[in-house]
Amino acid sequence: MFLSGDYRLKYDVVVVGAGVAGLNTAYEIASKGFNVAIIESKPRNRIGDKTCGDAIGTHHFNELGWKPSEDIIDHIYSGVKIYDPTEEYAIEVPGEGVSVNRIKFGQWLLKRALDHGAILLDRHVLLKIVVSNNFVVKALVKESGKPGLKEVEGKVFVDASGAKPALRTKLPLEWPVSERPYMTDYNIAYREVVELEKPLEKDIEYAVIYLNTEIAPGGYWWFFPKSRDGLIVNVGLGVIWDGKYNPRFNYERYLRKRFSGKLIHRGGGLVPTRRPLPTLVWRNVVVVGDAAYTVNPVHGGGIGSSLLASSIVSKYIIESLEKGVINEETMWGMNREYMVAYGAKQASLDILRMYLQKLSDEDFTWLIKNRIVDGESIYMLSSKADLAREIVHNISSMLRLLGKPSILNQLRTLKKYMDLVKKLYLDNYPDKPSELAKWIVEVERIYDKYRSIIGYDPGERVKW
Ligand SMILES: Cc1cc2nc3c(=O)[nH]c(=O)nc-3n(C[C@H](O)[C@H](O)[C@H](O)COP(=O)(O)OP(=O)(O)OC[C@H]3O[C@@H](n4cnc5c(N)ncnc54)[C@H](O)[C@@H]3O)c2cc1C
Repeated sequence: MFLSGDYRLKYDVVVVGAGVAGLNTAYEIASKGFNVAIIESKPRNRIGDKTCGDAIGTHHFNELGWKPSEDIIDHIYSGVKIYDPTEEYAIEVPGEGVSVNRIKFGQWLLKRALDHGAILLDRHVLLKIVVSNNFVVKALVKESGKPGLKEVEGKVFVDASGAKPALRTKLPLEWPVSERPYMTDYNIAYREVVELEKPLEKDIEYAVIYLNTEIAPGGYWWFFPKSRDGLIVNVGLGVIWDGKYNPRFNYERYLRKRFSGKLIHRGGGLVPTRRPLPTLVWRNVVVVGDAAYTVNPVHGGGIGSSLLASSIVSKYIIESLEKGVINEETMWGMNREYMVAYGAKQASLDILRMYLQKLSDEDFTWLIKNRIVDGESIYMLSSKADLAREIVHNISSMLRLLGKPSILNQLRTLKKYMDLVKKLYLDNYPDKPSELAKWIVEVERIYDKYRSIIGYDPGERVKW
């Protein structure tokens, strides 16, 4: 249902943000008969208009058990190709993926949620919240072009407002979901969709990633073809968000000429590249998607994992609403389920992400040229939970052969810490909220230790 200007102000669930995470949450909960409102600052017809690389591994849809309709798929990839900084050497990572048409995908997710009874308050911005007796009771929202604030009440509030979270940053600081990350926990990205003057001559069937610390320090640059004729491409880069680098500037300097053509879309944005929030729920607030950093820390892909996380949190919100008792205890199961499904892998890849951010162009070339890592091991690394054993097993044997003991030692330490945090998230995740604070201290201790071993300065915390 879509109502404009006239709507009920009391809902079971108030979802802030109509990105993939919010729309899927709204759909899942509304389809069980609960009243759901979606608050979104964009106008309805721009929902889905997200600056993105648009690439998603097909396995995500297989795991979700549904897939978007054919007209939403712009292009199909047979895998990912990763080039070293000299661009002479490349690794092919197997695994089918697709380029989605983000607007159509967003509109499709929106329609699905509205068809199941969710209500959209588009052009509404969440500005404030009201906390009473330790629960959020109201969201104060401003409708574009209208005076004053409206009050929207809910039993559960879901923050799905993206990388710069709008709701959880307004919560009391002692609530663990209000955690402030380091700036370096993000990449800042810029990308353009371009219709090229001449079609691509190679790699049309791949999502292509380039490692290059001059062009994309602390990240990578990419070109993801978006049409079968090789004429439309999504080109961009992400750099570590430490205040030193500007991705737009680097795009102009290094990529503009190489991909000249007619501009179709341009934009920038933040991508969380870290482990998930320590808990996705506190009191009656649930956090999901980029707002909870449910993103792969190494490649920054977050569409699939946001959908997965939103399905998981929805299940526990529904259960809690059915029981009529809403708090972090009744919804705690979502944390364990998410950590097993994806969060522990993220935690482990967060360690790898910091390691990769310390490598030089020479290191990358050496690793790729000597085939120290192959496509299969990278596939294991990015898609399966049990990845460290795979990659270090291969690397160890190769390195022994090639005699790079310093890198071998670094990789042994990397494996040790990747395993340690995985265990912490899988086996030692707290059974109840009262044990969370102690667990967080242990998590911080291990990450701090690894940072100090590799000389990684995380810099400042974000100001929001
Ligand atoms: C440049 C770039 C490239 C990327 N490339 C890829 C890729 O190729 N593949 C991939 O899988 N992932 C990619 N990602 C990551 C992916 O886009 C995100 O992980 C995913 O879209 C997160 O979805 P979300 O629903 O959590 O957040 P979002 O899609 O950001 O949605 C949040 C919504 O909340 C709304 N909102 C925010 N504040 C308020 C407020 N105060 N009031 C009301 N509404 C509000 C916003 O308007 C927005 O619609 C990329 C990200 C970037 C920035």
